[in-house]
Amino acid sequence: MNYYLSSYEIEKIRKFSKNFYPFETCGIIGCSKINNKYFIVPLFLENKASNKRMNFRIKNEDLINGKNILYENCLKFCGFFHSHPSTFARPTQGDKNFHIGNSLWLIYSVCHNEIKLYQWNGFKFNERIILIS
Ligand SMILES: [Zn+2]
Repeated sequence: MNYYLSSYEIEKIRKFSKNFYPFETCGIIGCSKINNKYFIVPLFLENKASNKRMNFRIKNEDLINGKNILYENCLKFCGFFHSHPSTFARPTQGDKNFHIGNSLWLIYSVCHNEIKLYQWNGFKFNERIILIS
């Protein structure tokens, strides 16, 4: 399985995450599948965590609205996006506690300017290679 992210989306993630520094940004990711290639599109949602420097939280109604926006744009819901303002783009213990199904996790580190994709396999996060389209 190959996962693609366009340079346009990467630039959007960078700008959006920097604008919210030192707070975490978050959202969901939609996928469109074309011949075994998954094209990833993030949809930014409001971070409703009480401590936005350390956490993100997506309210249930925001999640439902976000999923509807994805479907209207012919995208399948396939996971979550969030930023790490001051740490590496690796899942934290908090992220591990929040995993859902076999969802994809896109994490952008503001201070290290790196973006990584992971997939939860029921036990741990496995890194997935992102190809730039
Ligand atoms: Zn995190």
